[in-house]
Amino acid sequence: MRKDLLSDSKLSSLKNELNQDVSSKDKLETVGKPTLPLEIQGQALMGKMTNETLRADLGRSSWYLLHVMASRYPHDPTKQERDIALGFLNYFSYLYPCGDCAVHFQKHLKKSPPNLDDRDGFEQWLCKTHNIVNKMLGKPIFDCLTVHDQYDCGCGPDLVRYNPEKDRK
Ligand SMILES: Cc1cc2nc3c(=O)[nH]c(=O)nc-3n(C[C@H](O)[C@H](O)[C@H](O)COP(=O)(O)OP(=O)(O)OC[C@H]3O[C@@H](n4cnc5c(N)ncnc54)[C@H](O)[C@@H]3O)c2cc1C
Repeated sequence: MRKDLLSDSKLSSLKNELNQDVSSKDKLETVGKPTLPLEIQGQALMGKMTNETLRADLGRSSWYLLHVMASRYPHDPTKQERDIALGFLNYFSYLYPCGDCAVHFQKHLKKSPPNLDDRDGFEQWLCKTHNIVNKMLGKPIFDCLTVHDQYDCGCGPDLVRYNPEKDRK
């Protein structure tokens, strides 16, 4: 028998390894689904935030972060980028330090899942979401047609994906 030929058993074990590789790759795509673990859904890490001033400060800063983030979201996100954004919103809705706000936000995410297909989708979904909270709190409704201009953060050129090697000034 030629030495360079693989035995049947070696061949079959290589095939198995190959199949396992393929299925674990598939698993990475689906197992890493960026949702909250079932046992903590509908809950939040923190209790109610009763101090109105701190609650409002936290709200303003957080909305600013979210709107600027949406304004810099890619026009053509990859699946991985969409998953990361969805994961961020889901985990944010558990970690947000105003517990009752967090649970409201979680319910909203479930009822009206974010549009993360592209920048415009994310900006508009977020603006409408913020308006729902505005309405609940009796605040003015924001004109979502102006949202992109409102959140031009001035944080440099719209590189979309920053690579320190290529994008150094
Ligand atoms: C995810 C999340 C959930 C919250 N849930 C609750 C809650 O359940 N109960 C509660 O009491 N508070 C909640 N808050 C806080 C609340 O929404 C406000 O941030 C807080 O009351 C302060 O309000 P504000 O009037 O200063 O303006 P904010 O609502 O904080 O808005 C800040 C600025 O954003 C701009 N803006 C307003 N609406 C929009 C919009 N639709 N799109 C883009 N920009 C806009 C305006 O220039 C405004 O001055 C939540 C905050 C967040 C981030």
